[in-house]
Amino acid sequence: MTTLVVGAGLLGLCTARSLLARGETVRVLEAREAVALETSYANGGMLTPSLPEPWNDPGVHRHLAASLFDPKSAMKLHLHAVPSLFFWGISFLRNSAPSRYFRACEDNFRLASYSLQQTQAVTRELNLQYSQSSGGTLSVFRSERDLNAKKVVADRLAALGMRYSLLDGAGIVALEPSLADVRQKLVAGMHFRDDEFGDAQKFCVALADALTTSGVSIDTGMQVAEIVQSNGRVTGVRVGNESIAADRIVLAAGPDSRQLLRSLGISLPVQPAKGYSVTIDVSGIAGTPRIPVLDDSMHAGVTPLDHRLRLVGTAEFTGFRKQIDQVRVDNLFDLLHALFPSVDARIDRKKALPWAGLRPMSADGKPIIGSTPIDGLFLNTGHGHLGWSMAMGSAELLADLMQGLAPAIDSGPFSFSGR
Ligand SMILES: Cc1cc2nc3c(=O)[nH]c(=O)nc-3n(C[C@H](O)[C@H](O)[C@H](O)COP(=O)(O)OP(=O)(O)OC[C@H]3O[C@@H](n4cnc5c(N)ncnc54)[C@H](O)[C@@H]3O)c2cc1C
Repeated sequence: MTTLVVGAGLLGLCTARSLLARGETVRVLEAREAVALETSYANGGMLTPSLPEPWNDPGVHRHLAASLFDPKSAMKLHLHAVPSLFFWGISFLRNSAPSRYFRACEDNFRLASYSLQQTQAVTRELNLQYSQSSGGTLSVFRSERDLNAKKVVADRLAALGMRYSLLDGAGIVALEPSLADVRQKLVAGMHFRDDEFGDAQKFCVALADALTTSGVSIDTGMQVAEIVQSNGRVTGVRVGNESIAADRIVLAAGPDSRQLLRSLGISLPVQPAKGYSVTIDVSGIAGTPRIPVLDDSMHAGVTPLDHRLRLVGTAEFTGFRKQIDQVRVDNLFDLLHALFPSVDARIDRKKALPWAGLRPMSADGKPIIGSTPIDGLFLNTGHGHLGWSMAMGSAELLADLMQGLAPAIDSGPFSFSGR
């Protein structure tokens, strides 16, 4: 039985790995000229079970409405995108009800925790190198209000096994001396010691190499134009004029998944949420952070990746436009200045590499993993801002479901039905 995986980003490649590990024959089709050139390319690199909150937190409607008129808003809705977001947007707002929001936090936490273990296991087994590091992540807070909001979620997750330490100014600087300059501006910090970090694109390239060595064919430059079905069962895909037969198909095409399902009459509640990163070579510059630092009030973070620093954040609802807006890039430099002013003073901003990617954002903030109403067609997408944190676990979950095995965690919250 051959399974075609559509998309060679984090989710597609991890899915291929999990199916291969269960003895399946897998072929991956990727539209771009290499793997991980879309959303998995230059993300924040954080593997964070500690950050499972969907972005539609209670009160999100006020932020989105205000963002229409604020070019610097951390989460920005663009007026031109409103019509295309209409039905998805209603569901996005409906899911911001506190009960749904907190349930999604817990579901995402369970999946991300499981995923971290699976990422560690695959990394060990295949000896993957991707500038990875452990040591946790540090969230810093500039107001009691922000701190208290995060504590509400953190305490719920602590009951599920998440470990964190609350830090005062001295504790923050002891953990991360690079924050000494700004210590007075921070009211507290939280250290999530089980989190890890690493370069997702390097992980994808290393994993793709290992898969290819094990006989998986990863075909690039293959844009799937259509998923073909007959009598309610998939039969293959069409790429240009070529028909490729398959017994089963896993759609892991990130934000493009929605479009591919439309001709099958399936409406996927996923929309693109654009985010930015800026990567800076900091070789030879002292005072850079050791672990990722998230500035809760600025909704952005800084991740060390070897000799580089990656600034990351912001969400824009602006359809599929990937153009880089300098205002958003400047927001990230503002973050660097606000956290590490002496590093900012020593870098050459003109040499920094800005990037924008489209997060596949589901309306309820949880990924969509499992079967569809069409026999043989499976989904692994909609991971939003948590696709790196959840990739390996999502793949394992899906592969178990496809083989009729009992998954290690409850798959119910992520199933397509009822979404
Ligand atoms: C700025 C930013 C920062 C982020 N930071 C983090 C972080 O720190 N931690 C975290 O956990 N997550 C983070 N994320 C989220 C994470 O990067 C995404 O959730 C993840 O990359 C999504 O992976 P994917 O495989 O679903 O999509 P993609 O990486 O986009 O892969 C989909 C692939 O499918 C291909 N494709 C699309 N259509 C077709 C077609 N028709 N035929 C064939 N191939 C097709 C695409 O070319 C692409 O390669 C961040 C995202 C952004 C934008």
